[in-house]
Amino acid sequence: MIPPQFDYERPTSLDAALDAVAPPDAVPLAGGHDLIPMLKARSVSPGTVVDLGGLDELRGVERVADEGDTTTEQLSVGALTTDADLLDAAPTGADALLDATRAVGDAQIRNRGTVGGNLAAAHPASDIPAATLAADATLHLVGPDGDREVSAEGFATGDHETVRASDELLTRISVPLAPDAGSAYARKTHPSTGYAAVGVAARLRVVDGVVIGPRVAAVGLCDAPTRLAAVEDRLAGADAGAPVEAVESATTRAGDGVDAPVREDHIVSADQRRALLPKYAEQAVSEALARAVGREGVVA
Ligand SMILES: Cc1cc2nc3c(=O)[nH]c(=O)nc-3n(C[C@H](O)[C@H](O)[C@H](O)COP(=O)(O)OP(=O)(O)OC[C@H]3O[C@@H](n4cnc5c(N)ncnc54)[C@H](O)[C@@H]3O)c2cc1C
Repeated sequence: MIPPQFDYERPTSLDAALDAVAPPDAVPLAGGHDLIPMLKARSVSPGTVVDLGGLDELRGVERVADEGDTTTEQLSVGALTTDADLLDAAPTGADALLDATRAVGDAQIRNRGTVGGNLAAAHPASDIPAATLAADATLHLVGPDGDREVSAEGFATGDHETVRASDELLTRISVPLAPDAGSAYARKTHPSTGYAAVGVAARLRVVDGVVIGPRVAAVGLCDAPTRLAAVEDRLAGADAGAPVEAVESATTRAGDGVDAPVREDHIVSADQRRALLPKYAEQAVSEALARAVGREGVVA
């Protein structure tokens, strides 16, 4: 439980932080809830730990107008924003993100854990990635070659694996905020780890009484967050005036088309995760639909 020796740096500007993470054996530190246990378990042995805590520019939550479409907005969440600060900001129109953030660990974890750290850690059972995938969020990275944007769909590639290069930093996350969208997140807590055994986020719009553009994503199921295409296909165009039937027929076989291997451990088997999926898909989609119906006709 004693970490290996490493150098420690605490830059106070983004440029200095990029210089500090440039060596291949340097790792960024945000809230430390994932990294510190890994250091203690010696599953990582960095030459330098680069504490991002001095980068105030990567903290905060703000709404920004969408370029080219004045009816929609983006929620911009700085990567170092703690879960607790996101919940305090309580932005409207990002319900699944708030549901998922509320589900993270406990108050101590949320007070220190960051939204960016949750995504960058790419723990297969983390809650926030389900919400960002369902919302079609964009992750903003900066590295030695400048800025780049990666969709939430393309970011996590496996268990603790992402497309982020070791010399890149995640700076912020943009979440689309359609005024008439509804979203929600529901999870079955793993009885041992306290993370999600299965968690599902759903986001959809209701226009003229019909479900439009549903996106549904699961975590805890496979090594990377997974879209539930069968649910999305069955939900698109469904009659929002008959929500019970619409949701039931969309979520009963929620796992159809999930090709990636389903995770298992000695407490929750792959079969149990598959069996849990329809119930939590049903909860997330029902709540998203109820919220969307409540916002139908709302304009920015
Ligand atoms: C007891 C416990 C219970 C938990 N329960 C849950 C839960 O129920 N649900 C859940 O979703 N999570 C849970 N977590 C995880 C926690 O919420 C944090 O999300 C997670 O530990 C990572 O966030 P962090 O800010 O602590 O990042 P750190 O641990 O500091 O970093 C995590 C990883 O991301 C990298 N990183 C961090 N920030 C950046 C950045 N800006 N740019 C590039 N790379 C970066 C680091 O190098 C490291 O590899 C739990 C953690 C603990 C200890």
